[in-house]
Amino acid sequence: MIDKYEDPFIKISSMIGGDEYLKVARSLLKAQDATDEEIASSTGLRINMVRKVLYDLFGKSLITGVRVKDERKGWFVYRWRSRRDEVENFIDVQKQKIKERLQQRLDYENQSEFYHCGNDDCTRIPFENALDFFFKCPSCGGVLNLKNNDKLKNSFTRKIDEIKQDTRN
Ligand SMILES: [Zn+2]
Repeated sequence: MIDKYEDPFIKISSMIGGDEYLKVARSLLKAQDATDEEIASSTGLRINMVRKVLYDLFGKSLITGVRVKDERKGWFVYRWRSRRDEVENFIDVQKQKIKERLQQRLDYENQSEFYHCGNDDCTRIPFENALDFFFKCPSCGGVLNLKNNDKLKNSFTRKIDEIKQDTRN
């Protein structure tokens, strides 16, 4: 299990991929510059799983790999190291992405008025389309009425504000 005092690098790894990521991240912090084989033996995870996690973390810039020659075996291996300095940046980028998605949804809600027949199984219909259907629901035939979307808009706005406040400092 992970608690709130855990290192941010471990926390974020665990959030990305769960238990396997948590184990690999802990192992990396315990022994920097470990190879995939060393991580596999210290975590008890299969080597393929360890590699999958490492490549994913590497792709997200949360770890670096240095290619070095294994003198014993005579071939090259990668030694992996966590980039704890990148964790905050990674979190900021994720927040930014979420904020943009919320903003797009809010813009969509602001751009149009929506009509609905009141039937839970039917979807909302933007004004332009409702007009085409003569305000009759295309799925159930019910009458389309203007549906207030203030609640939805407010909840998007609130979430966006939360993220803004969170990232200000
Ligand atoms: Zn309907």
